[in-house]
Amino acid sequence: MSETIKAVKGMNDILPPESATWDWLEGCVRSLMTRHGYVGVRTPIVEPTALFVRGLGEVTDIVEKEMYSFEDSMNGDRLTLRPENTAGVVRAVTEHSLLRDGGKRLYYIGPMFRHERPQKGRYRQFHQVGAEALGYAGPDVDAELILMCRMLWRELGLVDGRDVRLELNSLGQPEERRAHRDALIAHFEAHAEVLDDDAKRRLHSNPLRILDTKNPAMQAVVESAPQLMSFLGAESLAHFDAVRASLDAVGQPYRVNPRLVRGMDYYNLTVFEWVTERLGSQGTVCGGGRYDTLIEQLGGKPAPAVGWGLGIERLLLLLQEAGVAAPVVRPNAYAVVTSPASVPVALRTIDTLRASGVSVLMHAAGRDGLGSMKSQFKRADASGADYALIFGDDEVARGEVSVKPLRNADEPQQAYLLADAIDWAMRLRNA
Ligand code: ATP
Ligand code: MG
Repeated sequence: MSETIKAVKGMNDILPPESATWDWLEGCVRSLMTRHGYVGVRTPIVEPTALFVRGLGEVTDIVEKEMYSFEDSMNGDRLTLRPENTAGVVRAVTEHSLLRDGGKRLYYIGPMFRHERPQKGRYRQFHQVGAEALGYAGPDVDAELILMCRMLWRELGLVDGRDVRLELNSLGQPEERRAHRDALIAHFEAHAEVLDDDAKRRLHSNPLRILDTKNPAMQAVVESAPQLMSFLGAESLAHFDAVRASLDAVGQPYRVNPRLVRGMDYYNLTVFEWVTERLGSQGTVCGGGRYDTLIEQLGGKPAPAVGWGLGIERLLLLLQEAGVAAPVVRPNAYAVVTSPASVPVALRTIDTLRASGVSVLMHAAGRDGLGSMKSQFKRADASGADYALIFGDDEVARGEVSVKPLRNADEPQQAYLLADAIDWAMRLRNA
């Protein structure tokens, strides 16, 4: 035997039964998006490298060390597997002038790629749900996007305050950040002796990112750093207050975290994260904010925008920690077929039942044929189906099928006419 080939490190197969949980979660997300007026968008997984360098900022973790970038061997183009999808959505919206007739509310579900050290809740291929509202400037949409997450948590069975918590901040406008940045550099320069190499390197290129450090030795100097909030002007403060007022009005608790900065350079005004204590250092389940300058920065006609991205793997881990299980999907019926000669007749009936909305798991032959009645009933039981449809030789000869209840001992076994399947199909569904 030749050596087996394994998946790439940090990139996971999503297999049954977990894959059914993914299907359930994605169904919940799609329903949520539809109810909020967000429409799906699908952009390529591979984008020009320049999109992310220009979009996310050169001095960000993602662009500096996490991107899967490569040269197209056919034509030398510099390409990257998308590490996130806001930049891709903005590119697509700009390329196709989607905002010419007003704002757009969009969402996506799909894989992202980052070259990180794989661990629980952190992978090299992972999946995000993202929601982006483009062309809207007001704090109303910020609040809508945050509340959309809250509704998702609720519908999945997570509890605010126990499983998730909202953190909020305002990053103000570029000129306010510049003033803050100058003050930050002065502060860190005054404490140069405690800065680590990473911080020293970023002191002049991106001092804000120093606030995000996980180095315990730097916590004190970060703690005492000047806060951006005190550099915000009246307009920025009014926007922030309006978001807060909406959250207060619907009773959504939050913590204002002045150190919340997010990993991409494109954010301004509102930023937020939904965090959990249940996943150790992979504690951010969902993060987002406003990015009013990104569209212009990527060459589009200036337009405001706001959005969030949610890590599906982390959300699923959190659900597990919180004891939430996806609803079990069981077939309505399992078709037991005793002889190969009955297969065409059985299949015709099963086809009619399925078209009528009944889920039917058909017993399928193995190398040794269909197998005994007994072994088929074992499978029927294990499938969790409510009924066994018995296509026995005698039944089929009479133009009938026997329907045997598998879960309800009080319900009698009954014979139905194959030709009338459309009429009795509903009874199998309503079990
Ligand atoms: P972290 O600080 O944990 O690295 P991040 O700030 O890099 O997160 P974002 O770029 O904001 O994350 O992405 C949004 C969400 O995607 C995160 O909150 C997280 O749930 C998820 N996510 C990010 N990177 C990974 C990864 N490597 N593996 C799994 N999920 C991830
Ligand atoms: Mg990261």
